[in-house]
Amino acid sequence: MIARLAVSVLMLGFAALHADAACERSSFRIILDVGHSPESPGAKSARGVDEYQFNLALAAVIEAHLQQRGYTETTRMLTGGGRAGLGNRAAKANALQPDLFLSVHHDSVQKAFLETWSVNGSDQQYSDRFKGWSLFVSQASGHPNESAAFARILADRLLASGLPFTRHHAQAIRGENRRFLDASRGIYRYDALAVLKATEAPAVLMEAGLIVNRGEEEQLAGADRQNRIASAVTDAVDAFCASTRGAR
Ligand SMILES: [Zn+2]
Repeated sequence: MIARLAVSVLMLGFAALHADAACERSSFRIILDVGHSPESPGAKSARGVDEYQFNLALAAVIEAHLQQRGYTETTRMLTGGGRAGLGNRAAKANALQPDLFLSVHHDSVQKAFLETWSVNGSDQQYSDRFKGWSLFVSQASGHPNESAAFARILADRLLASGLPFTRHHAQAIRGENRRFLDASRGIYRYDALAVLKATEAPAVLMEAGLIVNRGEEEQLAGADRQNRIASAVTDAVDAFCASTRGAR
């Protein structure tokens, strides 16, 4: 592998131009971690739907896009249990020896921003203040550089699809205060995040959008937005797979 490495490094520039030839899609193992569980369903949308349902749906669309592109070793990972099960996620993922780990989530805001409205006769909470996706990377993980590299590629693809990111996690308020790893690409640094830190593969957590935002919730529930995100993820995986082949 060492002898091959030198050649592969020289070929990296070439590989970027010929992703199809460089990336062995059928052997590139991707885990799509579906955030939360039925027992601990995460945030609640503006219309009262659990985040877990959004994560399940989007991960299924991403999985379908990846499979169609030839990434047949893509696994949608579901993890039951409450918050106590969080540590199991990374262990489960590591047992599958993935080449890439993407955790799929949908976003909310701090409680102070929530307002109340009525949906079909019941009170629900929403905030239209922020919208957009965001990406999280742990620099305490075993693969900090590759994780950040995949996040940059994914951010660029999402931006190229006309989808803006949210800056609200960087606000200087309690519960946020996240530092940008790349402020021009919506990438935040979250070193302590267990699911990223303990995963023995390049790992990124994606908040696909804000489901507490009444307009964005509708978009995130629809096929058009889900397909745009899935397409961006698939293109990003392709570029990443091609760029890392020489290093593995
Ligand atoms: Zn979540």
